[in-house]
Amino acid sequence: MELAIISGKGGTGKSSISAAFTSMQQPVMLADCDVDAANMFILFNPTHEEEQVYIGGEKAIIDYDRCNNCGLCISYCRFDAIKCVNNIVHILEEVCDGCKLCSRICPFEAISIVQNDKSRMYSGSFRYGKMVYGRLAPGEENSGKLVNIVRAKAREIAKKHNIENIIIDGPPGIGCAVVSTITGTDHTLIVTEPSASALHDLKRTIDICNKFNLKIWVTINKADINPDMTEHIIQYCKENNIAIAGLIPFDKSVVEAMVQCKTIIEYRPESLAAKAIITIYNNILG
Ligand code: SF4
Ligand code: SF4
Repeated sequence: MELAIISGKGGTGKSSISAAFTSMQQPVMLADCDVDAANMFILFNPTHEEEQVYIGGEKAIIDYDRCNNCGLCISYCRFDAIKCVNNIVHILEEVCDGCKLCSRICPFEAISIVQNDKSRMYSGSFRYGKMVYGRLAPGEENSGKLVNIVRAKAREIAKKHNIENIIIDGPPGIGCAVVSTITGTDHTLIVTEPSASALHDLKRTIDICNKFNLKIWVTINKADINPDMTEHIIQYCKENNIAIAGLIPFDKSVVEAMVQCKTIIEYRPESLAAKAIITIYNNILG
């Protein structure tokens, strides 16, 4: 069984819920597919059993033995990735798109294109089983492709170690990394919160999920801080035949748990948030 936890909007508590689900079972396979901001490794501190270089696109570099600082490339770069700082032309690698134009127009053939190779996929063991996660370096591309690699590795390890359940912590938003995260999962849980912007993002996330005919569930985190908006979201879900897996009340224990590098299930299993999360998990898989 693969359960993906996603959220249209960032900061809804998605990762806290993914972590809580993870700590409710053993052995479990955890795939952190939030490759732009992976954080499960901080919480679970896994061993490093495998590290794989991920090539996240290309970038331009200047050979200063050839460059005469003419500045021509600056005017050609549509991404504003080339700047003159202290009278020396520089390429900002986090901004460079790798389009190669500068390397073609440089009269001194001073610019070459190299692969972006700072992104990584890691796998290892942690206190509940096995874990895979990807880390996309700043400015590197194709997060969806890295998510595919993380998911494939998670499936491979789960099969090898007879681990039945894979929990996938997905990225926020509706980009290609989200599509790669949810494709082919058995269940997808969308975490939202009671605010107008979260509802707007929830609708867009549901639209994406529906395109893939996924079995989706919604949970509203901190549901009690805005009961009217919570009711509005519940009504929207009812009208669109989306199952509500449960509501999670605001609970400061969740933040306290994160500060202690624990999940809410580990930190305070008797808390209101922990009980709600357990109910949600059982509703989805029960
Ligand atoms: S066009 Fe070539 S020579 Fe001129 S500043 Fe750019 S890299 Fe240097
Ligand atoms: S490769 Fe393209 S984006 Fe990168 S510095 Fe050159 S022109 Fe700009």
